[in-house]
Amino acid sequence: MGSIFPVEARYVPILMIGLENSGKTTILHWLKSNQAVSTSKTVDPNAEKISLKEVKMSIWDIGGPNHNRHLWNHYLTKSQGLIYVIDSSDHARLHESISEFHDFIYKYMLSHMPMLVLCNKQDLPNTVSPIHLNRKINLGRDLYNLKIGSCCGLTGEGLHEGLSWIYNQIPNR
Ligand code: GDP
Repeated sequence: MGSIFPVEARYVPILMIGLENSGKTTILHWLKSNQAVSTSKTVDPNAEKISLKEVKMSIWDIGGPNHNRHLWNHYLTKSQGLIYVIDSSDHARLHESISEFHDFIYKYMLSHMPMLVLCNKQDLPNTVSPIHLNRKINLGRDLYNLKIGSCCGLTGEGLHEGLSWIYNQIPNR
């Protein structure tokens, strides 16, 4: 089967997931409005093409784990990296969010894929820090290519750093 990115192959395909309300749409919106050049829509109607400094990605935001689950595998097989967004201010759902992440990577055996966990909403009081989340997520660095970063979807703080990391993990991009 041919690539779904026949023309814009240099835009690295990335899948972004996370629980509802974690801030995925806000992050995508910030990325779209703060890129150096405006990009046109990709051939895939669900993907947003992002060009932020050196980072060029097509990002699929396909909703939280309870939605579009049947599509995950479809998009995952076409993705070269995974971004998992966590609302680090939502203590009540932190366990659920981490457990969904674990289920996802174990189910699809993602040991080969670069993964960026974004601890979003760091502007809010009493957020869980990336260090604390790292301990809770507790995945062996020798088995997984994983970075845990912090960000604020409203101001964009931390987004370039995180995206740049995952972009640079992709071979032959
Ligand atoms: P999604 O369901 O994952 O797409 O989440 P949304 O992007 O719709 O965000 C859910 C809510 O969180 C909205 O009210 C956003 O304005 C808010 N939000 C998203 N990111 C941040 C952030 O970094 N800080 C704060 N304070 N609010 C945020």
